[in-house]
Amino acid sequence: TIIVVGSLNMDLVVRAPRHPQPGETLIGSDFQTFPGGKGANQAVAAARLGARVRMIGRVGVDAFGEALLAAAQNDGVDTTFVQRDPDHPTGVALITLDAHGQNTIVVAPGANMQVREADVERAEAVFAGADALLMPLECPLEAVMAATRLARKYGVKVILNPAPARPLPAELLAQLDYLAPNQPELQTLAEGEPDVAAAIAKLRQQGVQNVVVTLGEAGALLVSDDQSVQLPAFQVPVVDTVAAGDAFVAAFCVALAEGKPPREAVRWGNAAGALAVTRAGAQPSLPSRVEVVRLLEV
Ligand code: ADP
Repeated sequence: TIIVVGSLNMDLVVRAPRHPQPGETLIGSDFQTFPGGKGANQAVAAARLGARVRMIGRVGVDAFGEALLAAAQNDGVDTTFVQRDPDHPTGVALITLDAHGQNTIVVAPGANMQVREADVERAEAVFAGADALLMPLECPLEAVMAATRLARKYGVKVILNPAPARPLPAELLAQLDYLAPNQPELQTLAEGEPDVAAAIAKLRQQGVQNVVVTLGEAGALLVSDDQSVQLPAFQVPVVDTVAAGDAFVAAFCVALAEGKPPREAVRWGNAAGALAVTRAGAQPSLPSRVEVVRLLEV
């Protein structure tokens, strides 16, 4: 079992000829809604890869919340511990796509920022017997810390995807099994250090045991006490890179949870990330286990 503590957002997408100026109203088209949020994306990604997934989070008592729970459940994610928050709306992302496919995004996290320590503690029984805890950073730090503490108590591996990046307490860094940022997030966490190796060294000095950095089309770099390896990306036609990072960390986590060695888990991450960039959108682009296994065999 994999536990995901994280966000659920409804993505509200419109196309426009260009991005509006302040005070301007533009006529757009093709309004669509998509289930999203890094937490939900990672939970769905792990479920499609064959893991049993239980999610901890919050949505509002509104239609978007209802739809997000249904979508996650439809992909096999157990949402028993996703609370309905009576006082805050479901998180949304307002996304405008211009004619060139460039987007602007405004996220209103709503209920996601109300996930409390108590929400995590209510799910304590879930940690006993779980294999891995996967977390992006779209929920309050108190929830992330509480989940990390319970994971340590029950011997559950902790993988933190620090997205969006923000400064993290040393106490948290030291308790992670894996920190899994992309390159910009790594730089932010390492106080702006632009060199990847130097940034990783800095974080490891702060107590992080293992780091996996995703490097887009350059694959991913794994650094731990006993190895430092860069594993190349799979060569694929790129359609859109949305959710590549979510696919990567979910597959990495699923492989680790199954007891595969870290290096093999990085290959799983690369395969899932590559498949996600061959298709449009976030959750629609997340691959199945069969697809990942097939790509790993070539
Ligand atoms: P994020 O989506 O968080 O910015 P990256 O761009 O680093 O993260 O992508 C995550 C992973 O997805 C990479 O480590 C790689 O495995 C895969 N990936 C991303 N872009 C490509 C690409 N152009 N070709 C093949 N694989 C890719």
